[in-house]
Amino acid sequence: MDMKALELLAPRAGLRVLITGGASGIGLAIAKAFLSTGARVHVCDIDGKAIDTLSTATPGITGTRANVADQADVARVFDDVDRELGGLDVLINNAGIAGPTGGIDEIEASDWEKTVDINLNSHFQFTRRAVPKLRQAADGGVIVFISSVAGRLGYGFRTPYSATKWAVVGLAKSLAIELGPDNIRVNAVQPGIVKGPRMEGVIAARAKQLGISYEDMEARYLEKISLRRMVTQEEVAASVLFLASPAGSAISGQALSVCGNVETL
Ligand code: NAD
Repeated sequence: MDMKALELLAPRAGLRVLITGGASGIGLAIAKAFLSTGARVHVCDIDGKAIDTLSTATPGITGTRANVADQADVARVFDDVDRELGGLDVLINNAGIAGPTGGIDEIEASDWEKTVDINLNSHFQFTRRAVPKLRQAADGGVIVFISSVAGRLGYGFRTPYSATKWAVVGLAKSLAIELGPDNIRVNAVQPGIVKGPRMEGVIAARAKQLGISYEDMEARYLEKISLRRMVTQEEVAASVLFLASPAGSAISGQALSVCGNVETL
C-alpha cells in the first residue's frame, strides 16, 4: 500500500470525540484508539471511579460521571463537552447493557424498560444534542452506533437486547438519510462475541438458563462463528476508527459486522 493510502486510514489529528459508556470495555478501547491518532476524547460513564482513574491516568481524555438514561445527566455531559472540547466532530453511541436473559413471559417489564432506556433512548438523547455541533464539524460529522450481531440476527431469550440493537440500526440508517445533506455520516458497528468479562457474564447467564456448564456454553457459541474465535475490543475499535477516517468518507447508512462472521445466535 502506498503512503497516500495509508494516510487515508488515519482519522485527522485533533478530532473532538465523545464516547458514551467509555470508561471500560469496548468504549475505552475506542477512546484509546482515537487518542493514539491525536484526537481529543471526552467519555461519559455511570462508573465515576473508572472515569476518575481514566482521566487522571490518561492526558487527552476527559470525563463526566453520568447515567446516560438520565436527561439531566446527558445535559451535564454536553456542558462538559462544550468546556473541554469546544465542539464535536465524532459521536460514538456505545453505552449499553446486556439486559435480562429469559423467555418473554419470564422477564420483568422493568428490566425490559431499563434495557430500552440505556440501549436505545439514551442514543436518541445524545444524538439530538450532538447533531447541531456535528453540523459545524470542519470535515463533516461522524456518528457511530454500537449495535451488535444481535441487531442483524434473532436472539432468543435475549429479546430486549436484540430488539434495541436492531433499533439502533434503524436509527443509523434513517439518520444517514436525514443528515447526509449536512455532511454527517451515520453508521452502526455490530460487534460479535467480544473477549472480556461482559461476554463471560452473558455466557454464564445463558449456561445457567439452559442448565449446562460454562465450558459447554462457550463451545456452543464458538461453533456458530465461522472464524471459530471471539473478536477483540481492539478489532472493534479499529473498525470505528476506519469509519471516522478519510478512507471511510463515502460510507454512510451501513451496519458493519465485526464478528468473525457469526452465523447464528
Ligand atoms: P461493558 O459493560 O464492558 O462496558 C459498558 C460501559 O458502559 C461500562 O463502563 C459501564 O459502566 C457503562 N454503562 C453502563 N450503563 C451505563 C449508564 N446507564 N450510563 C452510563 N454508562 C453506563 O460493555 P462492552 O462489552 O464494552 O459493551 C459496549 C457496547 O458494545 C454495548 O453497547 C454492547 O451492547 C455492545 N456489544 C458488546 C459485545 C460484547 O461481546 N462485549 C458484543 C456486541 C455488542
